[in-house]
Parts: sequence; structure tokens; C-alpha cells
Amino acid sequence: MSFSVYLAKSRGTCAGVNRAIATVELALEKYGAHKVYVLHEVVHNKHVVEDLKLKGAIFVEDLDAVPNGCVIIFSAHGVGQDTFFKAEQKQLQIIDATCPVVTGIHIKMNRASKEQKDAVVIGHKGHQEVLGTVGQYLGDPKKVHVIITKEDVDALAIDGNNSFFATQTTLSVDETAQVIKELRAKYPNIQGPKEDDTCRATQVRQDAIKQLAKISDVVLIAGSKNSSNSNRLKEVADANGAKAYLVDDSGDIDLKWLSDVSKVGVSAGASAPEYIVKEIIEFLQKNGATDIVEVGSDLKEKSFPLPKEVRP
Ligand code: SF4
Repeated sequence: MSFSVYLAKSRGTCAGVNRAIATVELALEKYGAHKVYVLHEVVHNKHVVEDLKLKGAIFVEDLDAVPNGCVIIFSAHGVGQDTFFKAEQKQLQIIDATCPVVTGIHIKMNRASKEQKDAVVIGHKGHQEVLGTVGQYLGDPKKVHVIITKEDVDALAIDGNNSFFATQTTLSVDETAQVIKELRAKYPNIQGPKEDDTCRATQVRQDAIKQLAKISDVVLIAGSKNSSNSNRLKEVADANGAKAYLVDDSGDIDLKWLSDVSKVGVSAGASAPEYIVKEIIEFLQKNGATDIVEVGSDLKEKSFPLPKEVRP
């Protein structure tokens, strides 16, 4: 077995994920191990969550599991207003690690509810980010509609002259553009972003994976199964001519995938740490990789300011 490896230059953890992980680490330094609670997985990556658990973070799925007065961190995906309210009732010390890109969408959603607009959220029902965005709407919940397909647009019945839409940040850019086109065709006066709310990190990683998929037989994407942006990378790679696999680490790689191929692409979702990419590359080098070539343009990843509670 011998093959070349093509590694996407634009890959791996984004500014929002780096900020959320640093927030938990700094909170652990400030308040101590086993004194910091995190609501939901802080980012959707198995290794990140396991590392933080080892350092003493306590992950919970419900605020009822947090003793009154303790420190609670909200994950990068954001939460609804009811969660803030409940945390305040319990006198928890809130540290909000919601990605600032998501917070920007929350502000617009909140404004739409004050203006009693019908709100359409294009995203995956039940995903943590979508739940948080929907939870920013303080009016009649019947005025909020979560959709994902063209058929969902067909079934919508809203006031097109007093309506607003937002999207999940980690959707497929191309598929979302189609849904928005249908939405605008049906409701020309609906307000919303010029294009969509997919963040720059999502866009550049999808652009890079398209390029990678076109030159690779197989593409391996470091990312967890519950990571939305990693799943979208897999779909984009599959749609652009490669057979793509989502792997948490090299332990998930089946060597049968690499037999009879000459070009293996590697990338990582926005929540997958770089040490996992390195570990995958080492595995490939031990199992037939002859050379490693980086492809695409270098991503200049910006950083977001930390929450004030954990700033040095
Ligand atoms: S993928 Fe985008 S929205 Fe999500 S945490 Fe990263 S920068 Fe923020």
C-alpha cells in the first residue's frame, strides 16, 4: 500500500472553538478542578471534552444538575434566554462561551421577536445551536419555524411582509444558498442576512475540502459524529468526487479504505484539535504514505476576546 497525502491548509479548530476551550481551561485555573460546570459539550468533539473532563470540568445536560451558586459555562453553540433566566434563579456564576458569531445571530433573533416578526431558522432541528437561536425568540413560539429543505419552504405559511430569517452557522454553504433562494422567491420582503449566517470558518473549510476532494480518492476528516460542521465537510467531499470518512482519530480508520488508492486527503472540522490531525498523519506515514503535500490557501484565523470573567 502506498499513497500520497494531501492535507488541507484551512482545517481544524476555529476562533470560536479556541475561545470556548480556553474559557473552560482558564475557569478551571481560576476556580479549581471539580468547581466548574459546563452545560452541554463545550464544543462537539469527543477528545476535547475528554481532555477537559480530565482537567476537572464537570459536563451536565441540565442546569438542575448544578448546585446553586456554582460556576456554569455555556457552550460555544449558545443557549436560549430561558437558560439564562434559570441560571440566574439558581444564582449561578454564568460564564458565556457562546461563539461571538452566534451571539450576533441571537441579537437579531431577539430583535425580531420584539418586532413580532415571523422568524424562520434554517438549520437542523434539535441541534444545540438551533435550540439556542430559537430560544432567543421571546414572543409566541408558534411564530418560529425551523426548516432545512426546499419542501419545508413550500410548507411554510408566514407573514412575508413582517418576517425574518437566520441560519445555523455550520450548514453546507451551497445547499443553504438554494433554500434561501426558494425562501426569498416565496417571500421577497423577508429580512435576513445578505447571503446566509454560515461563518467564515465554515466557508473556508468547505472551500478547502472541495479542492481536496477533487484531487483525492479518499478524504479523511477528523471530527466527531455529532459535529455539524464536520458532517457538512464529509458531505461536501462526497459531493465533489471523493469517498469521505469522518473519524474521531486514527483508531477509526479502516485500512481497507486505503487499499488501491493513490491519493488520500486529510482535513479536520472546526472543533477537532490539531494534535488529532498530527496523530492521523503519523498513522498514515506508518501505513503507506510516501509524501505529505499541503494544499489550498493558508487561513488567517482571527481570535475573539475571552469572556470578561476569565480574562487575565
Ligand atoms: S464554526 Fe463558526 S460559529 Fe461555530 S464556533 Fe467556529 S467560528 Fe463560531
